[in-house]
Amino acid sequence: MSAAPPRWGKQPGSGPPPAGTPPSGPARRPPLWRSWKWWIFLGGLLVANILIANFAPGQGGTHRVTIPYSTFKAQVTSDNVVGVTGTAESIDGHAKKPVSAPGSSDSSVDFHTERPAFAGGPNGDNLESILEEHHVQVSANPPSTSTFLLLLESFGPTLLFAGLFLLIIRRSAGAGAGGVFGIGKSQARLYDPERPRTTFADVAGIEEAKQELEEVVDFLREPQKYQRLGGTIPKGVLLVGAPGTGKTLLARAVAGEAGVAFFSISASEFVEMIVGVGAARVRDLFTKARAAAPAIVFIDELDAIGRSRASGMRLGGTDEQEQTLNQILTEMDGFDSREGVIVLAATNRADVLDAALLRPGRFDRRVLVQPPDRAGRAAILRIHTREVPLAEDVDLDGVAAQTTGLVGAELRNLVNEAALLAARLGHEAVTRSDFSQALEKNILGAARHIVLTPKDRERTAYHESGHALLALLIPETDPVRKVSIVPRGMALGVTVQSPVDDRQNYPETYLRARITVALGGRAAEQVVYGVVTTGAENDLRQVTQIAHQMVARFGMSERVGPLNFGVDDEGTRPFGGPRPYSEATAEVIDAEVRGIVDGCFDQACGLLTEHRWRLDELTRALVAEDSIDEEEILRVVGMRRDADGEVQIIATSPPVRAATG
Ligand code: ADP
Ligand code: MG
Ligand code: ZN
Repeated sequence: MSAAPPRWGKQPGSGPPPAGTPPSGPARRPPLWRSWKWWIFLGGLLVANILIANFAPGQGGTHRVTIPYSTFKAQVTSDNVVGVTGTAESIDGHAKKPVSAPGSSDSSVDFHTERPAFAGGPNGDNLESILEEHHVQVSANPPSTSTFLLLLESFGPTLLFAGLFLLIIRRSAGAGAGGVFGIGKSQARLYDPERPRTTFADVAGIEEAKQELEEVVDFLREPQKYQRLGGTIPKGVLLVGAPGTGKTLLARAVAGEAGVAFFSISASEFVEMIVGVGAARVRDLFTKARAAAPAIVFIDELDAIGRSRASGMRLGGTDEQEQTLNQILTEMDGFDSREGVIVLAATNRADVLDAALLRPGRFDRRVLVQPPDRAGRAAILRIHTREVPLAEDVDLDGVAAQTTGLVGAELRNLVNEAALLAARLGHEAVTRSDFSQALEKNILGAARHIVLTPKDRERTAYHESGHALLALLIPETDPVRKVSIVPRGMALGVTVQSPVDDRQNYPETYLRARITVALGGRAAEQVVYGVVTTGAENDLRQVTQIAHQMVARFGMSERVGPLNFGVDDEGTRPFGGPRPYSEATAEVIDAEVRGIVDGCFDQACGLLTEHRWRLDELTRALVAEDSIDEEEILRVVGMRRDADGEVQIIATSPPVRAATG
């Protein structure tokens, strides 16, 4: 289906421009620095400048030899020199017969020489009279310099700088504001409709969202069908989801599937605008979209302007945001979805949006874009490896299994990272090990280059082994994928656990096990060295958080009871409000948290003491290998995973070292 082309010449006729906005007629052109002519002009200027600097007359152009001053004087006295030009010490001249420096075969009738300072002055060689005597023509200005070149030479650099300066100003003023010289100048670009090539085939792992948007696509393809039946088509659809889940991608895919014009703007661009501009832009955007119908208007990052006006959190909420928001609301009320324009918007947080936006007739439909599950991640990996040659040993399902929690954008990065690594290592195709290294880097941060003393390495190895061993010994914990004492980011070592499934619900035993495992590092240090170090800070933060939530949020403590005190994930009140419970309750909560943690720590120490030889073996292996994966860990500690994935103990005593050789 084809749409009317956007009408550039025509002005949006809806209402007078708000105060402070210059008439935008002639300003509709794209900004200067976006035009290719401007770049050619700049480039030309630069080239001219270089040419002039290097080949300006007086220095070159003709072949000129440099000769010693003494040779020069000899030539003058032998009447070979016709004329000279020069400044204080530098002399260019023209001779009858070619001259050359002694010992040099390079000769020319044009020459250059430097006159030593001592040759001048009252006791000098009196060059002037010698020249006169031999009828040499003397002039002070370089001959044959064209006025144009001279002008260019003197003004060229200035012009160049002026040009660069302009460029910088325009850039820093932002594409959004169109530069300090014309508010709204870059609108033409902003509201240029696109026709995205993206389709639903490029989107994976968010099937529900895709299904919900099918209807929108269908409507945009065949509006008549829906109009005939009088069905209600949503005007506004809000895509809600964490960053990188593919909201922007999805919006483009809807346009691509339906083959309609796509007008997009990011609401964050409005935030820094001068008052009035945002509203004018919105009006213009909608006018253009309606003219191009069927079309999609996509407002990305809606929360940037759509934050609840009631909420006190709206720091620095400006008039501009208010006006822009109002204009969006007005526009949305002002058209009928039967016109064939549908507004899509994306936000990371629906909870902060102004209620007015969510009223019926506006963004009344919400589509949740959720992080992909395992199958979804595999599908996303397949999409992004379509153009990447993969080695036979690559198992994308395996990669998906190890990437719980990663969203589409992160998975794309992972593929990219692996491909770069493969290229650097000169591989023909991306291999399994490229993937696992990329993943390691992705999850753990790039390896840090610090050198630990052998003592610190051992201590770190015990710490990490403590985490890992407990995770193996306690049922209901997430499997250990890898243990490493390669320092990365802020951590000296790391134990990687990844859940088998994406859990939605956590039983109390699981939470307790998590606490125990998190305390495992500290417990190992306690058991082995009798003292603890600061290395466990991160662990303790995690421990405190989980324990506090168990008590104050999930009602898992008998003394406190099944109450939820409205604490957030960090275990604190959002916005620092007063605690919704008494001092006495606070004390009970603290005591209960303490009780849970103490219990878990005792359990950790007990288990590690009981399985001390496993701890020692694992530590030994870690110190030797730096990092070891699941299979190796299990082997070293004398355990294995049975068919159901449960860990079982197979060895009850340490291997006899001499025998194993
Ligand atoms: P959001 O707008 O939700 O922050 P984007 O749509 O900008 O996320 O995602 C960035 C990029 O990540 C996309 O261009 C795409 O390449 C990739 N991506 C994200 N989600 C998906 C997905 N579900 N399927 C395929 N690719 C995805
Ligand atoms: Mg986005
Ligand atoms: Zn730790």
